[in-house]
Amino acid sequence: MKENIYSRSRRRTPWTDKTSVTPLESFLDNHAAEEYSHRHPHISDTRESEFLNTFEPSGCPYCGKERYKRFGYLRTGLRRYRCLECGKTFTILTGTLFENHKQPISEWIDTCLELFSEQSFEAISKANRKAYNTTRYWIDKIFLALRGTQDGIMLSGNVYLDETYLKVIKRDVERRSDGKEYRGISRNQICIGIAYDGIHVYCCILGHGKPSQKSVFERFKDHIALGSTLIHDKEKAHKKLVQELELKSMEYDSKGLKGVPDSENPLDPINRRCYELQRPHAAASWLQQR
Ligand SMILES: [Zn+2]
Repeated sequence: MKENIYSRSRRRTPWTDKTSVTPLESFLDNHAAEEYSHRHPHISDTRESEFLNTFEPSGCPYCGKERYKRFGYLRTGLRRYRCLECGKTFTILTGTLFENHKQPISEWIDTCLELFSEQSFEAISKANRKAYNTTRYWIDKIFLALRGTQDGIMLSGNVYLDETYLKVIKRDVERRSDGKEYRGISRNQICIGIAYDGIHVYCCILGHGKPSQKSVFERFKDHIALGSTLIHDKEKAHKKLVQELELKSMEYDSKGLKGVPDSENPLDPINRRCYELQRPHAAASWLQQR
């Protein structure tokens, strides 16, 4: 593990490497160790196998056949099966994301709740007694698992469309020749397109700075049904999309709606989705670091 401030173990204390410690240091170490094991339980302590054993496999994950028999248990208490066709052994987790998992599922649940709450990586890492990079690694895994989940989304009926921006992280900020930052919407902003039909949300990155007609069209053309009604602001970049998908366009001047109560604002449904994306959570900071 790299020895920098962000990736140091949360178990270490300044006297971890000392050969003799004072009673206070020892007391604090014990407390830290208890807290750590509370945060990082062994799978067998969480009773997750008991829970997983309530599921019955639909078939052998290797050959797909339904002829199998129970075949004892793993060390974790998870039930094992043996296929009567291909002879392979498997568990309910074989072929899933949780096959060979080292972290208890309950810890994944806690981490997901935290990662999608309004906390920073640093705060989550500290609270969970995890190294900063471990938290980064976990969210990478979650996004990998989520990759492709939007592919089949097709919005229809009244479809709201808008863009929102997240600033790039400090390291990536580009400056003008006089050293000052660009003002307004610039290449230092990641543009995220959001479409919503009252049921599903479809989000995508449209690029840096203001979106183009081409990027909006390309990213949304397979996710908005032909002939839908597009409810949006007067953004010119939506033009090609409206034309090509033969959308009925209902445009509102978002500036003119400033001060209008949410309940009377026709763009309120999409404004809310943008707001959700803007909340300062770890998922947003993950996006900014890509
Ligand atoms: Zn089989």
